[in-house]
Parts: sequence; structure tokens; C-alpha cells
Amino acid sequence: MGYVEGNCPKCGKKIRESCNAWVYGSPIRICPDCKSEFLDKRWREVAIDGFDPRANNPRFYIFGFFGFLAFTIVCVVWLMAMINAQRSYPIKLLGCIVLGIIGTIGCAVVLLRQITGYEDKQNARFMEESQRRMQDKDYVEKLEAYGYSVPDVYRR
Ligand SMILES: [Zn+2]
Repeated sequence: MGYVEGNCPKCGKKIRESCNAWVYGSPIRICPDCKSEFLDKRWREVAIDGFDPRANNPRFYIFGFFGFLAFTIVCVVWLMAMINAQRSYPIKLLGCIVLGIIGTIGCAVVLLRQITGYEDKQNARFMEESQRRMQDKDYVEKLEAYGYSVPDVYRR
């Protein structure tokens, strides 16, 4: 889960929208305040842009998982050594351990989602939504006007 934040180019109001981790959705946004339409290229229209290449690359997370795990272990060993030697430890070291654990769990969760097919299911849903938008001729024309090169399948 994540958020996309920005200001409406028309009225300047701050807009905060929730999105998935890879910001899949229509790049044509509507300001909830003044209802004006604008382009936000941070959103990926997956029927055109495809999925984020990082999203389905397990190597990235396997690397991250072992990296964070090793970091956590090193910090824990260090912490124990310091407690043994001087009965005190810097609080920063504890912070590093917490960070390491969060990183390790975060990578493990993404890996699990990929292994169990959850990620694929989510992707299929986002692709379906994207393709549904692309069935709308006006919508496709709007994207082209914004400079998107729309694949021929969606141009009729
Ligand atoms: Zn606005």
C-alpha cells in the first residue's frame, strides 16, 4: 500500500490518494476539490505501460531479504558483545536492529506474495481495470492527446 501526494495544477489544493505499491491506475486524475482533470504520470496505466518490472522480480527481494537478515544478525551480535563487555549499548544500535527486522519481514512478505500467486492475482485485477478503461474511445483519445502511444488493439 502507498500514497500519491501532489497539488492540483488548477486549484492548487493538496491531493492525497491511496494506491498500491506500484501506483497502478489511470494517469488521468480528477481533483476531488475542483473536479478538474489533469495528467499524473506517476500512475501506471498497465495496459500501456506494463507492470513495474521490479514488482515481479524475486531476485530483488531475495537479495534484500538476505541483506537485511545479515545486517540484523551483525547488529544483534554486536549488541550482545557490548552488553557483555560494558553492560550498556548505544540506542542507535537498537534502532538498527528494529530497522533490520522491518526490512527482513518486508522483503519476506513480498516474496511470499509472489510465491503464492497473490501478486499475479492482484496484477490480473489491475490489468482488467486498465483494459476496461481502454475500451472507452474518449479515454483512449485523451491519453493520446496527453502524448501516450496507445497500442493498436485499443484503437478502433
Ligand atoms: Zn483542483
